[in-house]
Amino acid sequence: MTKEKAPINWVNSIFLVSTPLLAAIFIPLYAVNVGFTLYEWAWFAFYMAATGMAITAGYHRLWSHKAYKAHFAVRLWHAVWGAASCQNSILNWSCDHRVHHRHVDDGEKDPYAASRGFWYSHIGWILRHHPRHCDDYSNVKDLRRDPLVMWQHRNYWLLALVTNGAVPLALGFAVGRPLGVFLLAFLLRVVLNHHFTFFINSLAHIWGRRPYSDEDTSRDNLLLALFTYGEGYHNFHHSFQYDYRNGIRWWQFDPSKWIIKSFSYIGLTKDLREASKLQIEKKKARMQLKRALARMETGAESTHRFKAALEARHEQLVNALNEWSGARKKWYAVKRAAMVERLERAEVRNRYLELKYALKAQRLQWRALLAELATA
Ligand SMILES: [Zn+2]
Ligand SMILES: [Zn+2]
Repeated sequence: MTKEKAPINWVNSIFLVSTPLLAAIFIPLYAVNVGFTLYEWAWFAFYMAATGMAITAGYHRLWSHKAYKAHFAVRLWHAVWGAASCQNSILNWSCDHRVHHRHVDDGEKDPYAASRGFWYSHIGWILRHHPRHCDDYSNVKDLRRDPLVMWQHRNYWLLALVTNGAVPLALGFAVGRPLGVFLLAFLLRVVLNHHFTFFINSLAHIWGRRPYSDEDTSRDNLLLALFTYGEGYHNFHHSFQYDYRNGIRWWQFDPSKWIIKSFSYIGLTKDLREASKLQIEKKKARMQLKRALARMETGAESTHRFKAALEARHEQLVNALNEWSGARKKWYAVKRAAMVERLERAEVRNRYLELKYALKAQRLQWRALLAELATA
């Protein structure tokens, strides 16, 4: 079947092809002939973190999934550095991403469907004008009402030019080495950050484990998490997309989660949404049962009994989980009640003492008056 190819998107293609080429040529040349300084590497590190996190904590978890709420300063920060990451405006990015979750793996509708292969989901989808499924922005109505999002959308190119051109060049001129910061903080960084983000759409749908669901191609992959500020736990993410975490265990590498959580302690973020432990455990158990049953599918008659036992065990586990979750809720309620009771008791006691001393004072005054009367 010959399918007519979508027309090439020249702006994206030229940018995405030329930046790695220029980086591959000019960065080694500059390193050998001039050399990079610590100052320049520090700006590179800053740009990597600021633009990378603007995508993961900002574009992705804050705006696309509404996994938490953030203070204006945080939103402005992510909006500016998100533009610097050269991945389109918040509005366009979130629009595509919500379609991705809604129609994941659907070759027609998912903008970066992994079912169309590594190349397409990694970068191919950006290089051509493929039909988009969110041209009317109907799935981002909430974002269209956000003045900051719309401001960033209107000024995307200007913000991208200033943060990627003017700022690095000015930082270079300030120390008499005009090009160093620009080469690292813009050129090298934009190539790395682009492909690290693209890996989420390609590799995180191809390579890794699927502990929560195999209904789509998303995977959990620690190695990817290391390069993507924690976004590598993609199977969990597709199962619980509203959760502000991607790596749910404390030891899982998820700096985006750490930042969001830390900010909540100083009031910069709030209303962090989490899937309940019960939901997560149930989803995992269901997946384990499904796997075990599939393994036995090919087995003989004797597996029949084992299958029944496995199903019964799974049911017992789910019951135990439900009971545990109920008991947990009850325990917290009791703890809360005890705390309230303690507070109430303290309040009553304070009032009693207050009255006691007031009475004492009254008595003293009364006696004083009596004494006065007696001597009068
Ligand atoms: Zn995905
Ligand atoms: Zn997502």
